[in-house]
Amino acid sequence: QPAIYACPSCGAETCYRFGKNGRFLSCTRYPDCEYAAPINREGVPLLPERVDIVCPEDGSEMELRSSRFGPFIASVKFPETRFVLNLDKKANIKYPTTPPLVTDVDCPKCGAPLNLRRGKRGPWLGCSKFPKCRGRKAWKELDEAQQESWLTALEAHEQKNPRVELKRRDGSVIPEGTPVSELLLASGVAELEIHPAHRKPAAKVRKPKATIAQAAQ
Ligand SMILES: [Zn+2]
Ligand SMILES: [Zn+2]
Repeated sequence: QPAIYACPSCGAETCYRFGKNGRFLSCTRYPDCEYAAPINREGVPLLPERVDIVCPEDGSEMELRSSRFGPFIASVKFPETRFVLNLDKKANIKYPTTPPLVTDVDCPKCGAPLNLRRGKRGPWLGCSKFPKCRGRKAWKELDEAQQESWLTALEAHEQKNPRVELKRRDGSVIPEGTPVSELLLASGVAELEIHPAHRKPAAKVRKPKATIAQAAQ
C-alpha cells in the first residue's frame, strides 16, 4: 500500500507494511533501505520529538519516541545508549526506580526475603514478592546490631546505585511528574516530506502534525 511520504534516509517512495506489531511506514527500497517508522491510525508517521532533557548516561539530547509499549524517552544515540525514561499514564516523566536492597530477613507472611528501601519516614522492609505478597516488617523489630549493619549496607547500595537527576539543557532540575508536553522542544518536531510523486501542485498537502504526546492521550 503506497504512502505519500518520501523516505528521509534515501528519498525513495514509502509504503505501509504489516509487521508483527501492526502497520508501519517502510521504505519501498527495503531491504536496501531499512527506514521504518511507527504510524498512528491515520497512517501519519510518529517521529521522535526532541525534549529538553539531557541524557544522564551519555550527555546528549533526548527525544520522545514511540514503541508498541507506548511512548518513552531515549537519547538521540539510542539504542547504543541504553538509558530510557518512561512516562506514566498521564504522560508525565517517571524517574527510574533504584533497585531495592535484598536482605536475608524473611517476610513474616510468606518467608521470601524482604527488600530494604529508604522511605520518607526512614528505612522500611517490604516483601520482595510484592505485589503478590504485601508482607512487611517494621524497622524497629530488627535488633540494634541488625539495624546498624543493614543501614551500612543500604548506604553502600545507594552509593553504587545513585539516583539519577534529570536536568534540562540549562542545567535546571526536572522534578518527577513533569508533564512531557512541558519539555517538548518546538523546533524538534520533525515532519516527513511528501514524496514528489504524491505532491499536488494546486493544493498544498499538509497533513496535520501527529505528535507522540497526542497519540499517548
Ligand atoms: Zn529509503
Ligand atoms: Zn511475603
